[in-house]
Amino acid sequence: MEIDRLGIHDSVAAVFPPERLREFLASETHGGIDVAVIGDDGLGGVDGVVTLEHRDAFRDLEWIHSIQAGIDRFPLEALDERGVVLTNSTGIHGRSIGETVAGYLLAFARRLHDHVAAGERREWNRPEWDEAFTLSGTTACIVGTGTLGRGVADVVGSLGVRTVGVRRSPDSLPEFEEMYATETLHEAIAGPEFVVATVPLTADTEGLFDRAAFEAMAPEARFVNVARGGVVDEPALVAALESGSIAGAALDVFETEPLPESSPLWGFEEVIVTPHCGAYTRDYYRDVGEIVADNVVRIERDGEFRNRVV
Ligand code: NDP
Repeated sequence: MEIDRLGIHDSVAAVFPPERLREFLASETHGGIDVAVIGDDGLGGVDGVVTLEHRDAFRDLEWIHSIQAGIDRFPLEALDERGVVLTNSTGIHGRSIGETVAGYLLAFARRLHDHVAAGERREWNRPEWDEAFTLSGTTACIVGTGTLGRGVADVVGSLGVRTVGVRRSPDSLPEFEEMYATETLHEAIAGPEFVVATVPLTADTEGLFDRAAFEAMAPEARFVNVARGGVVDEPALVAALESGSIAGAALDVFETEPLPESSPLWGFEEVIVTPHCGAYTRDYYRDVGEIVADNVVRIERDGEFRNRVV
């Protein structure tokens, strides 16, 4: 494979200015790659593309790099059949997502979201004596123990939260004090104050957090989803919040995005909604750029791509 010209699709503008990544990749330090920002009006003679969204026209390219970790929106089989290489950006989101999840947990424990809401109404409302707590000594069950799961375990672990992991095998990992296999998910989520979804959306994980899962959680549990909306049965989550079978949720991803104005999820005091930005950081373009530049070198060297999916 030869990549003479690389495109940056302007859909990446949802996360960072395409021009920043273009300058980064074109700089001599990062290989002096011939890079052009492209839109939907033509591929501009590029052989590969860095993108947020998929377009049918990309099937004619040699290589697609997704600036996200999740590849659930790409037609994997079709790309494979046409011999198009797909790489993703897994590996860069551990710290940002870890800090976002720590922020949710701190908000719930220290009641920060209540104070922000009261402040908007100019109200001096102190919490009830037993509402606030400290994170130290609480437990988080983290479902999905890859880059995101380990990043979350690392950051919340440093705040004194005990971390339990769930993955396909029960083999231990240093970041987690205890490990469960996915078949025993309901056992793993039965006690912890926090349950955090960090799994990819696949045929196996679609709807993993259903009515039975929410019923298995403790009534004081808060559910966090920073994975994909599809891993949750959203009506079952709403029902669990309405009935009080769980205490609250912090959600960065949804079945439909943007979250429709009519969604009941906007209406709960104990639900924190963030607009799929849990991994945002001003360094995002650099982190993606490092992977892309590395892959350009690898194409020239031996064709062994980093983060190859297809
Ligand atoms: P990784 O590939 O690093 O990790 C995924 C982990 O999930 C693997 O370690 C795997 O562990 C585990 N896993 C896979 N299938 C199952 C299953 N059926 N049950 C339990 N565990 C499973 O991916 P990332 O951590 O980088 O990203 C995970 C997902 O998070 C992405 O696919 C994306 O959808 C989402 N994401 C969301 C972001 C946001 O902005 N909110 C940002 C980045 C990612 P094992 O092989 O041991 O089972």
